[in-house]
Amino acid sequence: MDRYDAYQKMGINRKVYDFCEELISGLSDRFGKFDEMAEINQMKVLDAFRREQVQEACLMGTSGYGYNDLGRDTLERVYADIFHTEDALVRPQITCGTHALALALMSNLRPGDYMLSVSGRPYDTLEEVIGIRDSMGSLKEYGIGYDEVLLKADGSFDLNGIKEKIRPETKLVAIQRSKGYSDRRSFSVEQIGECISFIRSIGKELIIMVDNCYGEFVEELEPSDVGADMTVGSLIKNPGGGLAPAGGYIAGTSVCIENAARRLTSPGLGREVGATLGIMRDFYQGLFLSPVVTAAALKGAVFAASIYEKLGFDVLPSSEEERYDIIQAVTFHREDALVSFCRGIQAASPVDSHVVPEAWDMPGYDSKVIMAAGSFISGSSIELSADGPLREPYSVYFQGGLTWPHARFGIMNSLQYLVNDGIVNL
Ligand SMILES: *Cc1c(COP(=O)(O)O)cnc(C)c1O
Repeated sequence: MDRYDAYQKMGINRKVYDFCEELISGLSDRFGKFDEMAEINQMKVLDAFRREQVQEACLMGTSGYGYNDLGRDTLERVYADIFHTEDALVRPQITCGTHALALALMSNLRPGDYMLSVSGRPYDTLEEVIGIRDSMGSLKEYGIGYDEVLLKADGSFDLNGIKEKIRPETKLVAIQRSKGYSDRRSFSVEQIGECISFIRSIGKELIIMVDNCYGEFVEELEPSDVGADMTVGSLIKNPGGGLAPAGGYIAGTSVCIENAARRLTSPGLGREVGATLGIMRDFYQGLFLSPVVTAAALKGAVFAASIYEKLGFDVLPSSEEERYDIIQAVTFHREDALVSFCRGIQAASPVDSHVVPEAWDMPGYDSKVIMAAGSFISGSSIELSADGPLREPYSVYFQGGLTWPHARFGIMNSLQYLVNDGIVNL
């Protein structure tokens, strides 16, 4: 059987196969770079495991209060090692990325403080956390103020705007690395570092928090390497490596992490409690695999970019640009194309491949969202997945893929669906 036969059996026709094959042959240099980054980050992760002496007992869990949980406490030191921070909080009780970010904010801000977002409007689900959209329990209800500085037209940080908006009450500055559901570019760690240096030149005491979702292990450095006080993310994205079944992390300064731990559990108990049940093996193993899984996702992202830009759709980033996260946006300007794309991805999934995605009112988002997510871990977006809000410009945000062959097939299948539905003509 040659390779085409394998894909033909899966419903890919010759035209789609040949079209994709030609594009992939042009991507080998790019893919080589991703593999090289995976090697560098694999060593970083392994080195942390060795230094912290991860041992078999770490893979067991605790129950009840979870006092003296060796696995949990060691894993938090491993994260702190990888992120080069004083400390880290890595817990299954942090339910997702939004929760990790909310926790970082709510625990480090007090009534009367202000937070300032300098990368424009933050990710959709943070609007209710902050109170940009009125919401019960928001920071706003607790008397914590919010302001934002929009990015400049070229997508860069508006340093003058930042300087103007930092006031005496400003306690925390938030930066989002990945674009989220917006049409800007994601920031490199270097760009974030330059922004942080500038912010420090104005207010040395400011707490700088970076939303690191989807950015982990894409570059050699993390935001914590360039001065962030808190680097925050989700374990059902990159650092969970597809195995962590839930969870979030905050890596940062001792004070910030202590605040977060006390808010997560309670004052007095802080980080000393929090049973890990049977989850630790997956946290460790997922973290260990994460650099390679992230590289697979990056290959998929670049492959998707090269297909859809060739077909004349707007893609962000382009197939040739540097990557700072694993997200690929494709803008269709038509609802049917967004829907077909997601259905093609869903049908290529190992779980729920027979399910047809429909748009729904997802909690935390203010327009209908369509999602393709046939993942082992519900909602995991380091696994092959695609989603997009049903609103102009009908952009799909595509990410993940635990292996390159799967990412490759998923994207080919998305194209096959667009062809079958008469939206694309090859
Ligand atoms: C995914 C994401 C979040 C929120 O994470 P959830 O796990 O979905 O709650 C926040 N910020 C960015 C940039 C993200 O990509």
